[in-house]
Amino acid sequence: MKFQTFLIKYGEIGIKGKNRYMFEDALVRQIRFALKDVEGEFHVYKSQARVYVDCEGIYDCDDVTEALKRVFGIVGICPVVRAEDKGFEQLKKDVTAYMDEVYPDKNITFKVDSRRAKKTYPKTSTEINRDLGEAILEAFPEIRVDVHKPDVMLRVEVRDEIYIYSEIIPGPGGMPVGTNGKAMLLLSGGIDSPVAGYMISKRGVGLEATYFHAPPYTSERAKQKVIDLAKLVSRYTGPIKLHIVNFTDIQLYIYEACPHDELTIIMRRYMMRIAEHFAKQDDCLGLITGESIGQVASQTMQSLTATNDVCTLPVYRPLIGFDKQEIVEVAEKINTYETSILPYEDCCTIFVAKHPVTKPNVERIRKSEEKLQEKIEELFKTAVETTETMVIK
Ligand code: ATP
Ligand code: MG
Repeated sequence: MKFQTFLIKYGEIGIKGKNRYMFEDALVRQIRFALKDVEGEFHVYKSQARVYVDCEGIYDCDDVTEALKRVFGIVGICPVVRAEDKGFEQLKKDVTAYMDEVYPDKNITFKVDSRRAKKTYPKTSTEINRDLGEAILEAFPEIRVDVHKPDVMLRVEVRDEIYIYSEIIPGPGGMPVGTNGKAMLLLSGGIDSPVAGYMISKRGVGLEATYFHAPPYTSERAKQKVIDLAKLVSRYTGPIKLHIVNFTDIQLYIYEACPHDELTIIMRRYMMRIAEHFAKQDDCLGLITGESIGQVASQTMQSLTATNDVCTLPVYRPLIGFDKQEIVEVAEKINTYETSILPYEDCCTIFVAKHPVTKPNVERIRKSEEKLQEKIEELFKTAVETTETMVIK
């Protein structure tokens, strides 16, 4: 069946009054973005508290649906057949043809639910329901009506044209990106951080990202992997501004001057500081990490406290209560898993101690950092100035 329009259903919570415009405009914008690379011509617009996508030219309905399934804010996608209004006899034919094609197995129950948006139409919605229901029953002897719990709720909307639809394909839910500000994701090449970015963005938050690499200890391939991950995440979030920080000199300096069991924590504190620097520069309202309590030594409650100690922006950790398997399930769903498990080295793994502290003391960590006084400001400045920034889409 060739569907010419997609009716977009979105959640109602939190979008009353003035916010509704913002929400709908952001949704329209994000849908346009998602369809940019899909073959076909698409007209996305809002009308009477609904959002529609009209399709023209050569397009594949499955491609359109796949793209729409990645737009946060969409709760359901209804593929619509549009019929010209050529009188009620023709409408009966159109509706039976629709049922015949969309439901080849007629051992089902149905109900017609019509809406008369065009008030001059010669039949009331009750009459439309009854007469179309009769026509369908006549056409297919097996089919039955169930007004309470039908298998198929056939919607017929009479406007200038007539819209016929019955399927609702689930969307990702959430809120359209751009309705809740922007945050800075600390994006590594691992499994967790892309998922963390996805989850926060799902609530309407635009993303920027910072990646720390350590050439020559980490390769170009490791960097490319992070760019690829950002690209995969951006299919949901829209364009991501990615900052690639050369972290080598800071890491070497920490290695040289600080106790080795504290390396990871001190390094993570510098990551947070640098990410926060870029976050503030671009009006991001928070930082995002893929941390989860107890996953590794640097993610115990004490380690998280020590890392958090240097942040002034709120740090969002959407995976904090997730087990690894639960994170993997989301990674698979959003298609980042296969890329995340490619075996390239990470900057954190190069300078790790054999026995890192698992219960760091914040005071002691601050003291250890004093050993960096001589050069750290200069190195921080250089790291920021030599950062490579690109927009991933
Ligand atoms: P991930 O799977 O996301 O790499 P992880 O289990 O390897 O996480 P850590 O290495 O302790 O955990 O990192 C915790 C978080 O710190 C990551 O989720 C990410 O947000 C951030 N992070 C770690 N390494 C980097 C890096 N090289 N660049 C940017 N952010 C990083
Ligand atoms: Mg990692």
